[in-house]
Amino acid sequence: MVRLIRDLELNYINPENIRVVRSKGSHSVGTVARIHGLPKCVQVGLGLEPSYVIEVIDEKFSPLNKKQKIRVLIHELLHIPSNFGGGVLAHSRKNFLKLEELYFSKLEDILDLYQL
Ligand SMILES: [Zn+2]
Repeated sequence: MVRLIRDLELNYINPENIRVVRSKGSHSVGTVARIHGLPKCVQVGLGLEPSYVIEVIDEKFSPLNKKQKIRVLIHELLHIPSNFGGGVLAHSRKNFLKLEELYFSKLEDILDLYQL
């Protein structure tokens, strides 16, 4: 994850405060992964830094090929706002899909560097 963030130059993301977890048994139809932020009130209340967890749904994520997996991770990373404040951007955010296409095209240049 650290390397992906660096290679994509997502410099506003603190890789120290991102984790990826696999979950099993999700009943969500069509969901391969989701990102969870840490709300500001929880950060303040518990004295924690802004953090994110990307949850991949094992049954749906594992069968994907490398390129598909990285695209899923990129998509989830793009939900992180540039202030890295703990919130999560919606798909309806202006330019979300354009940004996604931009980063997906960057992936073509670096895909061979990754092993998943
Ligand atoms: Zn999404």
